[in-house]
Amino acid sequence: MPRQKKAEATAHKELTKFLAKHGAILARELAPRFGKAAGSQVKPSDIDLTEWKELVEIMLPLLKEAADEAATNALATLSIDEAGMFDQVAALALEWAKQRAAEMVGMKWVDGELVDNPDPRWAITDSTRDGLRDLISQAFEDGMGQADLEKEIVNSYLFSEQRAEMIARTEIAQAHIQGTIKGWKVSDLVAGYSWILGSEHDVPDECDDNADSPMVELGKEFPSGDLGPPAHPNCICALSPVLKSEIGG
Ligand SMILES: [Zn+2]
Repeated sequence: MPRQKKAEATAHKELTKFLAKHGAILARELAPRFGKAAGSQVKPSDIDLTEWKELVEIMLPLLKEAADEAATNALATLSIDEAGMFDQVAALALEWAKQRAAEMVGMKWVDGELVDNPDPRWAITDSTRDGLRDLISQAFEDGMGQADLEKEIVNSYLFSEQRAEMIARTEIAQAHIQGTIKGWKVSDLVAGYSWILGSEHDVPDECDDNADSPMVELGKEFPSGDLGPPAHPNCICALSPVLKSEIGG
């Protein structure tokens, strides 16, 4: 299957590139603004990251392509070739990508409008704001001057290419799993799934509980509260489908 994983690999690369570029620009903008704050405490509400909202339009098609590809592959793996089902998963992948792209920057869609999301999951705006606040309070404690704090912000992991890559990898892993689940749902052949622990799990975490759990019904949560992997950044766990025919459903 030549299409397999192609969109996913492209989306990963593009997303890393955009996030890294955006991070570098933002770091240069924020450094002088918060460098001035050296020697004073900064409230999280003072940290304005509205610039990240521009990312929604860039991320949406990338997440959509990755999720759609995974959904299409899930159907193909189940030997489904009904065109109508592929249209259905494409629509579901688009809807998911739209919401996730907004959530990533602390927003949500309400009646076609992007509005603040008071409780986003894994929003890069939240983690950046928290990280920046920690950096500034540490500088305050250390009695750091303006120039050093500016340097600290520009060189921070928060705006690094490594972080951009980690976010891209985790987001695309999520698009892959969510797309796959959409494919299984539309197929109507899958009853549920079990959590397959990724190979890079040296330290026990919530993924172990999920892997120990019996089959979870399609669309239901695992013990960690997740609908599927990733349960944490860099999680490389997977799902294994349980067919209705296997359990006599
Ligand atoms: Zn995991």
